[in-house]
Amino acid sequence: MARIVRYLHRGEPAYGLIEGETVYALRGDPFGSWERGEAIGPAGDVRLLAPVQPTKLVCVGRNYAAHAAEHGASVPSEPLLFLKPPSAVIGPGDPIVLPAGSQQVEHEAELALVIGRRCRNVSPEGAWDYLLGVTCANDVTARDWQRQDDQWTRAKGFDTSAPLGPWIVTGLTPAEVGALEVVCRVNGQERQRGNTGEMVFGPAFLISYISRFMTLEPGDVVLTGTPAGVGPLQPGDQVEVEIEGIGRLRNPVQAMGEG
Ligand code: ZN
Repeated sequence: MARIVRYLHRGEPAYGLIEGETVYALRGDPFGSWERGEAIGPAGDVRLLAPVQPTKLVCVGRNYAAHAAEHGASVPSEPLLFLKPPSAVIGPGDPIVLPAGSQQVEHEAELALVIGRRCRNVSPEGAWDYLLGVTCANDVTARDWQRQDDQWTRAKGFDTSAPLGPWIVTGLTPAEVGALEVVCRVNGQERQRGNTGEMVFGPAFLISYISRFMTLEPGDVVLTGTPAGVGPLQPGDQVEVEIEGIGRLRNPVQAMGEG
């Protein structure tokens, strides 16, 4: 098991590792073979970035029955897929900027799967070999636009709508990834809690299913849906997605135009 980060090193993004409270350089290819390099510094002193730069984020809607029910929606018989663009990605500590014109932007705490190898038309049984690891995500959603629009490009694809991080945890088994608590807190108050074991479609099935339709590239991200308890974000809020044993992803919330 390793914790892979991306961080800013002399103004350039670089891959690294966190062990204990220390960030180390990662020598080699995080998607291939690598080894631990020199110590960079204490984690608190290193500026972490989103842990990957995906070519796309494939997201799954209504994958927890309790969340579908809170919107009066049914659970789909096949995974309900949508995309977020790579331009939506931000890292730990980066502000979520509420888009002008939406009156209802909401948090959605989610487990994110990070693809490790190019993946096309794989079976559910074989899908795990294509996973690099998992991280925390917030599928930030303009709920009013989601209701207004026939498809969700605007509601779920605006800039800063895809916080990811703080790191990728590798080497977990399907059973381990299938039993993680997913929690969202706003200003320290718990708003969402669920368990990845409650997913309608599990991680390996989702990778397999998506790979029937589109090639997944190394670094691509699959957002696996959110448990019940989604709610609004306001300027000045601090939102935190915690996945038990994985990490905590914290982001401040700003109105557009703040700085
Ligand atoms: Zn979602």
